[in-house]
Amino acid sequence: MRRIYLPLCIFNRHAPTHNRAKWDGTHFTSKCRFCGKDIRRREKGFWQKDWCPPEGHAPDPAASS
Ligand SMILES: [Zn+2]
Repeated sequence: MRRIYLPLCIFNRHAPTHNRAKWDGTHFTSKCRFCGKDIRRREKGFWQKDWCPPEGHAPDPAASS
């Protein structure tokens, strides 16, 4: 396996894949280019693992019955 620099994912600092950010009405969301997890932009240039969106906001209504 090719050795790359250590991603900051373990510190909950992720990096989005380029040009794949989506606006979900509250934040930009994307996938981490390193670990592939869903991530959410907390502020400019600062992406964290997706967290529970605010109450009343359901980006995926099919997730709950
Ligand atoms: Zn990551």
